[in-house]
This record gives sequence, C-alpha cells and structure tokens, in this order.
Amino acid sequence: MSDTQATNLERAQRYLERFRNNTTGHYINGEFTLGNGGNEYDNITPTDNSPIGKIMAGSTDDMNAACKAAEDAFEAWAATPGAERKRLLNKFADRLVERADEIALVESMDCGQAIRFMKKAAERGAANFRFFADKAPEAQDGLALQQQEHTNFTVRNAIGPVGIITPWNTPFMLSTWKIAPALAAGCTVVHKPAELTPLSAYILAEIADEILPKGVWNMVNGFGESVGKRMTEHPAIKAVALVGESATGSHVMRQGADTLKRMHFELGGKNPVIVFDDAHFDRALDAVVFMIYSLNGQRCTSSSRLLIQSGIRDKFMAALEQRVRNLKVGHPLDPNTEVGPLVHKEHYDKVLSYFDIAREDGANIAVGGKRITEANGDLDPAGNYLEPTLFTDANSRMRIAQEEIFGPVLTTITFDTEEEAIAIANDTEYGLSGYIWTENTGRAMRMARHVEAGMLWVNSENNRNLPSPFGGTKMSGIGRDGGDWSFDFYMETKNVCIAHGTHHVPQLGKG
Ligand code: NAD
Repeated sequence: MSDTQATNLERAQRYLERFRNNTTGHYINGEFTLGNGGNEYDNITPTDNSPIGKIMAGSTDDMNAACKAAEDAFEAWAATPGAERKRLLNKFADRLVERADEIALVESMDCGQAIRFMKKAAERGAANFRFFADKAPEAQDGLALQQQEHTNFTVRNAIGPVGIITPWNTPFMLSTWKIAPALAAGCTVVHKPAELTPLSAYILAEIADEILPKGVWNMVNGFGESVGKRMTEHPAIKAVALVGESATGSHVMRQGADTLKRMHFELGGKNPVIVFDDAHFDRALDAVVFMIYSLNGQRCTSSSRLLIQSGIRDKFMAALEQRVRNLKVGHPLDPNTEVGPLVHKEHYDKVLSYFDIAREDGANIAVGGKRITEANGDLDPAGNYLEPTLFTDANSRMRIAQEEIFGPVLTTITFDTEEEAIAIANDTEYGLSGYIWTENTGRAMRMARHVEAGMLWVNSENNRNLPSPFGGTKMSGIGRDGGDWSFDFYMETKNVCIAHGTHHVPQLGKG
C-alpha cells in the first residue's frame, strides 16, 4: 500500500467514524432526526461489502413532515431577494470547498468511485452552486413582447416546494447540480438520496443547516417505493426532478399524475461513440477508454457502444485491447486506481451476468469478462471488483448492444458507411448522448443532425459546460438542465398584458 493510500484510508476512517457510530437519519424543518416509524438498514461499502454504519429508512410520516416543512418555508424563501439568495448560496459553495477532503473520501468509500475522480468533486459541486447563485438575482427576469395597442411582459416566479430524487452513481455531484438551481430560483427542496449511497447527502444537509433558514432544505433517507413514492404524490410538491433509471421515470410519472406534477427526468443511456477511419487516432482512443472505464462505467453519459469503421478497425481494436488490459483496478482510495468496485453486490451481479449473455448471443470477450477473485495490493476480493471488459464482434440486436449495463464494459460494433453508423447509433430505445470522431467537418455536421441524442460531442469526450443544456431524448429523459433551462423548470412563467388605453373593448348589452 502506498503512503498516499494509507493516509487516504486513515483519514477516510476518521471521517466515517461518526457514521459508523450513529444511525444516519433525516434533516427535516431544520432538525436532524431519526423520524417516526422508519426502519434501519446497513450501509455497505463496495470495497469489501462490510457495513459502514446504519441508515434510517424513513416512513411516509417523515416524508409528509419534510414536504410540510418545505411548504411552510416556501413563501419567505421565494420572497428573499435574489441578491441575498446569491450570498447564501456562495457561502454554501465556500463550505463545500472547506469540506472537500471529507466529501471526496466519504463518497469514494460509499460508492466505490476512484479517488482520482472524486478529489475534485467538492470543487465541482461548489462551481454548480456559484454558477446558479450568481444567476439568482436575474432568475425572475422575462421578456417584453410588443403589440400595437398592448405591451406584454413575462415574469418568472419559483414554482413552489420541489422534490429532488438522486441516484447512486455520482450522488454528491448530481445532488448539487439539481439542488443549486432550485434554491437559486426560490424553491424550497425535499431531497431523497439513493438508498445505497446516502452519506454525502447528509454532509450537504449539515452545510444547509449552517447556512439556510429552516425548512428550505429537507432530506429524507429511505427507499424509492416508500418515501420516494410519497414525495412524488404529495400535493405540496409542485415539481419533481428525478435522476435514475428509465423504469423509475415511468413509475414516478404515474405516481405524480394525480397531482399533475411537473417532471424532469434524467434517465438511462446506451450511448454510442462513433469512430470514423479519418479520426485523430490517439485522441479518439483516449476518449473511448475514458468515457466507459472512468467512474467504473457507472456514468449516465458513458459511451458504452463503440461503433468503429471497418478501415481503422484492426489497428484501433489492437490498441484499445492493450489499453483495457492495462487499466488499473484497485481500492478506490489508491491514487493509482482507475477502476474501483461497483456500487453494490446486486448491481455487481447484474453486470457480471452480461458476460454469459454476451457469450450466448455470440459476441467475443476480447478482454476481461471475469470477477476478480485474488487479493491484489489493498484490493479485497470480497469487494465488487471485476476486470474491465471489452466485447467485440457484436451486432446491434444483441442484448449487450441494447441494454444499459452500467459497468466498465464496452460493446464494439463494426460499420462501413455513414448511413450504417447512423442506423446503428439510433437503434436503441435510449437517446442521451453521443460522441463522433472524424476530421471531416461536413460529416460531423451530418452526424450531429441525425444521431438521436440530447447531447453530442464532436472530437471530444464528455465536457460539461454549465450554461449548456444537459438531458436526453427517447427513454433517456424529459427536459433539460443547465443555464436558464434549469430556471425554466423550477419556475412558472407569468404573462402580464397591459393595454395602452387605445384599443376597442367589445361592448355587450348595449341594445
Ligand atoms: P434508480 O432509478 O434505481 O434510483 C434512482 C432514485 O430513484 C433513487 O433515489 C431511488 O430510491 C428512487 N426511486 C426508485 N423508485 C422510485 C419510485 N417508485 N418513486 C420515487 N423514487 C424512486 O437508479 P439508480 O440505479 O440509483 O441509478 C442508476 C441509473 O441512473 C442509471 O440508469 C443511469 O443511467 C441513471 N442516471 C442518469 C443520469 C442522466 O443525467 N441521464 C445521470 C446519472 C444516472
């Protein structure tokens, strides 16, 4: 074990101690509480599947209390001047940076993401807060729309208390991304973190407790089908932003139907990276490896399907196989680790099951395809470790080309023509992101037009720009995050029409 890893582990254990020694509950109406009528469960670290504390799964009573608190706090928070919300949210960002070390280490141990990807998490979370904080004073601004005898203007008001449901893959980042614009817009929040990775949400609630008025931020731990469901049905909640699986999106939409909730969904993906013969070889190779094997492949925008043109195929695949073999699987707190353990035993088993599915469907497993059963350095085989895997000789109809596996597993399909690449790229129910590698600008433009996705990158890996829209089409989602798109979701637009006093008002009843 390297010195850095040993100090990482020692610091992580120190930060985790209070979670080990206490049951982690909820944050409701400015109080940390174990709630009323919930049940405890063990929170497991994927590094060795041992418990790192107990979590209180809330009851519907707890969710009702959180929604009521958010409802009661709404009027005052929405009326707080934008400049004051800006000040408070920037202060929130400062506290995230101050607790960066703790956030990174706790998050790595809770969800298995390698520390090399987590160490900047707090800074990026803080950037999310600062970006929307700075926009808070202008969030209400609208348009002036002129008619001959009337002037219309639009104004936006916070929609009300909102529910935010986050998944386990990058829980901290996604929570900040969703919650920061909601608060900047003037909404109060009820957050339901993923049951498998609740710890960073608790740290966020602690910072909220220092900075925000009571009831503005509420957090209830627990299961989707109980507290999550109750949140989506609660009449006080006016909008729900969900990040999760497509099937969960369908459930949530049904659950919110009776109260006609506004919904924003960021769901699954089976994203293509399309590499043409004329691509910049080295840059494309780097990006292909990064966009599926970073973050353990547990990333919604990961490029889990490689579409490779036949002319470059042999050379590219030889280089790719070498790179996949070289990937360093290890304990998430080892600074050299590139691929850590998968979040949970059940998810791990699901990913492993695709090795047999690939064989049955006739694909070739060129690299990997096995769980790791030997201890190696500080890698404990009791954890959810697997060999980064590369499937070749696949076709678009195979399950490994259609289903979101959500692990460090890449499916390769060969194509000849641009038209064929478009057809394969679009041949899934998903449409989140896509990546196109070509030096031919005209082709890049044509592909950008025809590939069905909410986001396309040309000659780049996933590069996030906060003012740009983020979201998916088809079964990958509804709505967009980022920039003003976030405010549009969390706010209601009102049109005010003012007459100039010159137009003819229809006259009835005059005989
Ligand atoms: P999941 O759908 O199982 O759970 C997500 C959240 O929804 C959890 O907090 C869960 O408790 C809650 N939930 C589940 N059922 C619910 C219900 N009936 N009512 C209310 N809430 C409910 O997803 P996951 O397994 O935690 O995360 C992985 C998935 O998230 C993948 O499909 C991934 O692609 C997707 N994801 C998408 C994006 C994106 O931006 N498109 C980003 C990250 C993750």
